[in-house]
Amino acid sequence: MRALLVEDESTLRRQLVSALREQGFAIDETGEGEEGLYLALNMPIDIAIIDLGLPGRDGLSLIKALRKQDKRYPVLILTARDRWQDKVDGLEAGADDYLTKPFHMEELLARTRALLRRTGGWTDSTMQFERLSIDTRAQQVTVDGRPIELTAYEYRVLVYLATQDGQVISKGTLLDHLYDEATDRDPNVLEVFIRRLRQKLDPDKSLNPIETLRGRGYRLALARQAPDTTAGPAEGNTANESSTAPSPADPARR
Ligand code: CA
Repeated sequence: MRALLVEDESTLRRQLVSALREQGFAIDETGEGEEGLYLALNMPIDIAIIDLGLPGRDGLSLIKALRKQDKRYPVLILTARDRWQDKVDGLEAGADDYLTKPFHMEELLARTRALLRRTGGWTDSTMQFERLSIDTRAQQVTVDGRPIELTAYEYRVLVYLATQDGQVISKGTLLDHLYDEATDRDPNVLEVFIRRLRQKLDPDKSLNPIETLRGRGYRLALARQAPDTTAGPAEGNTANESSTAPSPADPARR
């Protein structure tokens, strides 16, 4: 997953970058609104975290501009002021959620994960695909309940594929969403990771979780399961969004 971070308080930005990297995000970051817009429009962003008060171009104008250019990824706004009007303006401009400073990093991470899950149509922190289960809160992967030890990178590959609704993802797209500009990207390395991921998830070759489509890319080939058994595989992005609360899943819920 690739996150855009636009925040002009440099200490906070550093903390956010480090916390998000630890969660496996590739990051595009800036403290300035115009550069933020450039990144928002030109980088393969999966989620944006945008401070409202920014030099150059303010956060509201930045969000309006990126929505106008048809960028649809989720946007979480940060506001230093606990004024309801700022939040309303931000949401009206196209933001999906907000956080008032100061906030706990764990809350920001939980909201970020929740927004990304909802984009993929998931409402729970655990994504279930047949025998494969991905707990995005604990970053724990299991097959038939058996924990699978994945490296951070293998986990990122798996989660990205898992949120793409079974679509075929090209190698280039996968690299774009897993690496930021600061990282050396190598398609051959990606192949190695995919191979290792397959071996770890499916040592006896009974699950076949990741399909390779020659010349086109990869896709997660398992059917997703809604956590409540009344629903079949969810269609689209909004169909199974039953919660009325904008806040993410309760942290106490596993
Ligand atoms: Ca600011």
